[in-house]
Amino acid sequence: MTDHTIEKGIEWEYAPSIQDTEMVSIAETYGLFINGAFVDPGEGETFATINPATEEHLALVSAAGSADIDLAVTAARNAFENVWGPMKPSERAKYLYRIARLLQERAREFAVLETLDGGKPIKESRDIDIPLVAAYFFYYAGWADKLDYAFPGIEPKPVGVAGQIIPWNFPMLMLAWKIAPALAAGNTVVLKPAETTPLTALLFAQLCNEAGLPDGVVNIVTGDGRTGAAIVDHPGIDKIAFTGSTGVGKSIRRALAGTGKKLTLELGGKGAHIVFDDAPLDQAIEGVINGIFFNQGHVCCAGSRLFVQESIRDEFLDKLRSRLDTLRVGNPLDKNTDVGAINSAAQLQRIEALVTTGRDAGVDMFQSSCELPAKGFWYAPTVFTDVSQSHRIAQEEIFGPVLATMTFRTPDEAIEKANNTPYGLSAGVWTTKGSRILWMADRLRAGVVWANTFNKFDPTSPFGGYKESGFGREGGRHGLLPYLEGPWS
Ligand code: NAP
Ligand code: MG
Repeated sequence: MTDHTIEKGIEWEYAPSIQDTEMVSIAETYGLFINGAFVDPGEGETFATINPATEEHLALVSAAGSADIDLAVTAARNAFENVWGPMKPSERAKYLYRIARLLQERAREFAVLETLDGGKPIKESRDIDIPLVAAYFFYYAGWADKLDYAFPGIEPKPVGVAGQIIPWNFPMLMLAWKIAPALAAGNTVVLKPAETTPLTALLFAQLCNEAGLPDGVVNIVTGDGRTGAAIVDHPGIDKIAFTGSTGVGKSIRRALAGTGKKLTLELGGKGAHIVFDDAPLDQAIEGVINGIFFNQGHVCCAGSRLFVQESIRDEFLDKLRSRLDTLRVGNPLDKNTDVGAINSAAQLQRIEALVTTGRDAGVDMFQSSCELPAKGFWYAPTVFTDVSQSHRIAQEEIFGPVLATMTFRTPDEAIEKANNTPYGLSAGVWTTKGSRILWMADRLRAGVVWANTFNKFDPTSPFGGYKESGFGREGGRHGLLPYLEGPWS
């Protein structure tokens, strides 16, 4: 009989488990997806997208100029007026279900491509991003023929052509949050993915054709900020949906003032994660780790400020320090990897610059002792301790694997400190007292408050911000509102 006893104290060799990439095929050059076909950009400009974990060149992608945006908007308008708008809602639903099923069938391909182009761990793209993407399409497919039930007595009508601009941190998930409700409500779209992560959106374009989606319903235009601005400025667009930084969000709001175009903004955040002394500490540690190191901290709702009750400060930070060292940082294609690559050289610089302000201010910090790969963009998981409210690392969004910790004594003080931010996207509370959770949730100025968990997403649940985190909700029945004309318009 085999002896299955495990010998303690022996050194286990680390065995990587690398995801193969054979199912992904990347073209040398991509055109713009307009009116159901890939076309060359008018001015013929292209730019490269790379793998941030290796700095390897992946593909050349087209940069759409104003003339290309005009073609895309014309295609979307035509599809809206002649095909998608007049179509029976139950027929529209069938296309959305088909897209959702195809996404499930090709889930691994999408996950691997997402990881190659953006640097996030395969564990996350495979188990979180892409399953959620399919779930959002299934969910909104279900609403497509039930809008009269969603908003009884109102007979809501689609808005028309939506211009949608998304960031690089959750490329496919943000695409799903934008495209699924827009199409379910009867609109057509022109979507721009981020410059550093365009490849999965271009694969999605191919999938739209495979699903037989009528030409012009979905148009994908790649490019940089100038392409985004051309979408914002195009007079044929009825509604802009933007997810990205607060700075760009403000400039879009200024550009749209007085134009009558509808607008929703999903912007930055500086989420507060609050741990009371009665919380289950080991679970809270996992929540805090997930809150800030999930997706390298490139998460708008990251729990980037930790407030620990003073009585458990030392114990909690000790536990956090040891957990930090067990995080596996490195090759995003390794199925064991917890923290992958920073999305771009520019983002790495922003992280380094903000961390430097913390160090220059004399704030103590500790970092994971992990070894970082020589090539690519990497940042070791970092925790600042005893930060003060006025430090830039407590106020500004770092959008990287960096946590700012502070303490509090009473629930009132926790609320005061947590709300002391220009943002208001997310918060988390850890305590065993249900009444305290409700008391806190009532007072935290944040669009989402998680209780004894963090970073949980569900298509049925609306998501969005207060204050400089933006306005409008995505997900749930609320997520349909920005794409419908009704008494709320
Ligand atoms: P960003 O610079 O604002 O970019 C977002 C998107 O806008 C990209 O596609 C970008 O193109 C484009 N863009 C840039 N300048 C533009 C302009 N003047 N007009 C129109 N579009 C323009 O933000 P980011 O750094 O990529 O993303 C990180 C930010 O997004 C963080 O602040 C994060 O909190 C926020 N975010 C919020 C949510 C949410 O749901 N609230 C979700 C995810 C991320 P390029 O890629 O070419 O620059
Ligand atoms: Mg890339």
